[in-house]
Amino acid sequence: MIEEYYGELFLMPIPLEFSGNRCSYQCSYCFASGNRFKGGGDYASVLRQIERVFNKGSNPWVTYFLRNKYPVCLSNRTDPFSLGNTRTTIQLIRLLSSRGVPVFVQTKGGDGAFEVADSMSPSVWYVSMSFFDNRKRCKIEPNTPSIESRKELIAHLIHKGHKVLIGMNPMVPDWIPESDARALVDWAASVGVSGIISARLHLSAEQQKRMTVASRSALSGVLPWAGKRTVPSDVVNHDRYIRSLCQDEGVEYFSIGQPWPTKIYEPFRELYPKTLSVVHDFINWAWNNKEDGEEVHFEEFEKVMMERLPGGLFELRSHLCKVCRVLGAKGTPDYWSFRDMLKILWQEWKHPWCLVRNQNFAFDSLDEESYRIREDGYAVLRFSRAGFEGPCS
Ligand code: SF4
Repeated sequence: MIEEYYGELFLMPIPLEFSGNRCSYQCSYCFASGNRFKGGGDYASVLRQIERVFNKGSNPWVTYFLRNKYPVCLSNRTDPFSLGNTRTTIQLIRLLSSRGVPVFVQTKGGDGAFEVADSMSPSVWYVSMSFFDNRKRCKIEPNTPSIESRKELIAHLIHKGHKVLIGMNPMVPDWIPESDARALVDWAASVGVSGIISARLHLSAEQQKRMTVASRSALSGVLPWAGKRTVPSDVVNHDRYIRSLCQDEGVEYFSIGQPWPTKIYEPFRELYPKTLSVVHDFINWAWNNKEDGEEVHFEEFEKVMMERLPGGLFELRSHLCKVCRVLGAKGTPDYWSFRDMLKILWQEWKHPWCLVRNQNFAFDSLDEESYRIREDGYAVLRFSRAGFEGPCS
């Protein structure tokens, strides 16, 4: 079934996802298998769902965003071209396209990817590459398409007018050491990749418990830090190193949570008529419009973010439950407007995308323990290009 893409709200500008059968690629670090994902349904069930949505409506979130032709992500919890998924992927893209609904593809490649690339309208493809050395890839992602085949796919996609982002997700220094990172960035620049998105490896204690013995053994070198909040210094340094390579080669590089502006979302905005706002829209705005140390007010955030967020009420408690159990706890209203949700992003630091979690922003402190709240209940923030160290200035 097409579902709410709740987990990545405010990070990815896409509101919907479809994940079909469980992924056959079985990467050792897969969060989806760690979350006991059982499969999201077959083509017949999604066909019935789409007919329902367009005829009389069903789940309000899915109905709203499908009818308004926002893109659907294929797929977040499986690979759309893994065994048992390709056929559904091809059929579903055709069906959505006949309804004017675009698709955003997340994949490591596989049978059918070339066929889809040739037949669908220009779209954004996120092709994962945590490795550039195929021997290293085989140890952690033994069943996935080879690095060579992904390179072929990426070059083909760009040739056909699609925009490609490489997902270095997860980025682990041992998996893509400096020489491999340099080769990957050089190659990405030479074929015209639109950018690289990197994210640290994170596997919660719960997810680690559910891993198979084989996966745990393949990841034995990284599990001790993969469950911790603090990012190890060698990961931070490697991230900086790859960023500098990308800067030299003119490739856009985005690491999740970075305190710098980004152009990484431009392919989405170029190819899809409708997308959602993400927190980095506001970070970009602040870099262009604010002086260092200047106050930032909620109305500025609201104005920028509401440019791409719909009015009305949506079942946003589920988003809160997904990203932060405390905020989505019992007693929280089910339905929210996006405006209400922005207040959470503005001043509730427990939310992963709360602005003060990004070093560009801090609460305007009154003393060591309190910060400034306006009479109408909104906190006052301050902006810094160099970055603040904690939530309060
Ligand atoms: S390709 Fe993606 S969904 Fe499939 S096993 Fe690997 S990480 Fe999981």
